Amino acid sequence: MGKYFGTSGIREVVNEKLTSELALRVGKALGTYLDGGMVVVGKDTRTSGEMLKSALISGLLSTGVEVIDIGLSPTPLTGFAIRLYGADAGVTITASHNPPEYNGIKVWQPNGMAYTPEMEGELEAIIDSGDFKRAPWNEIGTVRRADPRGKYIKRALKMVELESSYTVVLDAGNGAGSILSPYLQRGLGNKVISINSHPSGFFVRDLEPNAKSLSALAKTVKAMGAEVGIAHDGDADRIGVVDDEGNFVEYEVMLSLIAGYLLRKFGKGKVVTTVDAGFALDDYVKSLGGEVVRTRVGDVAVAEELAKNGGIFGGEPSGTWIIPQWNLTPDGIFAGALVLEMIDKLGPISELAKEVPRYVTLRAKVPCPNERKTKAMEIIAREVLKTFEYKRLIDIDGVRIENDEWWILFRPSGTEPIMRITLEARTEEKAKELMEKAERLVREAIRRA
Ligand code: MG
Repeated sequence: MGKYFGTSGIREVVNEKLTSELALRVGKALGTYLDGGMVVVGKDTRTSGEMLKSALISGLLSTGVEVIDIGLSPTPLTGFAIRLYGADAGVTITASHNPPEYNGIKVWQPNGMAYTPEMEGELEAIIDSGDFKRAPWNEIGTVRRADPRGKYIKRALKMVELESSYTVVLDAGNGAGSILSPYLQRGLGNKVISINSHPSGFFVRDLEPNAKSLSALAKTVKAMGAEVGIAHDGDADRIGVVDDEGNFVEYEVMLSLIAGYLLRKFGKGKVVTTVDAGFALDDYVKSLGGEVVRTRVGDVAVAEELAKNGGIFGGEPSGTWIIPQWNLTPDGIFAGALVLEMIDKLGPISELAKEVPRYVTLRAKVPCPNERKTKAMEIIAREVLKTFEYKRLIDIDGVRIENDEWWILFRPSGTEPIMRITLEARTEEKAKELMEKAERLVREAIRRA
């Protein structure tokens, strides 16, 4: 489990754990790891961003690395800039969807893909060792400031084109998406109404895009007679969508719709998703001649699969979408352009959504001390056969068993002392019956672990 990066890194509160001292060390460690070269650095809108960015850049410079400081930047723009400038790495200072007092550091590869847990581990070892490279006075790095927004929009408009113009309400949650997403939508020829788009570091809604946090967006879509509402989390690597009737579109439905649209756009191909995504995607993608491939949970796993084995689209049921023809960085802003293109070609979302099959999804948490997780999972993997009749067992991340009628995923939380159960079935009754059995199995496994 990572200490400074990933989910556990992001949870560190600035004034307690993620201090400017640590950011300095991360900068030194990354410079040592890269041993020269160039790094793009961007941050989201949080009040601690500039402080952490300055410290991180200072660390990078001390090792002789050249820095391109793109300042306030949504994660996908940083990912774009890495490739635009041919950098050796990129860094985003962001806590994604977490509250304003949190922050985190995420590192990216030259191809726009996030650092893998293994690479983060190597960086963490250097941070802990304190054995940093030190450049002599005449080789200390320099900083160049740049704004890649114009190029981002220009390139995006080469890939996405609309025949008509639409009214789009955009809610960036006062996050980093504020400085790019409305402009891309305008570039597409749309009429854009922005709400919550002041990149102030003070958030007026929960940054996690969901039906509750996007109620103002939904109301505005209705009041303005807009065709769609688009929302982002704090660093805009994710997208939440409100349809033309002012309803939040469930993530699973949106995932299916966009995968289906891209299948139509790019022809047949593979759609990559994670083990916690539902059946609707499989059914919908298969009906359009495509194939679904599942990976571990997390955008890095999805990007790795796309980079290794190809595919036309990668997406998680959290609204994190990777469009490999564009970049391997999850990009909620480019995703917004694709959503408009889908509406332009296929019609309003409220109508399209009717094509997507619906299932009943249930989620539960069972308390489980961290030290019992491994043993409990072993017991669950062994005992599922006695409790359930299933066709397939997938154990790439937790244990997922499935049938043509339902699936259940047992997975220990990476950050909390709990076991998660996620399941899906065709009827409410079946879902409840399965959940009862699943919870009993998990409780028993934890007791015996
Ligand atoms: Mg995010």
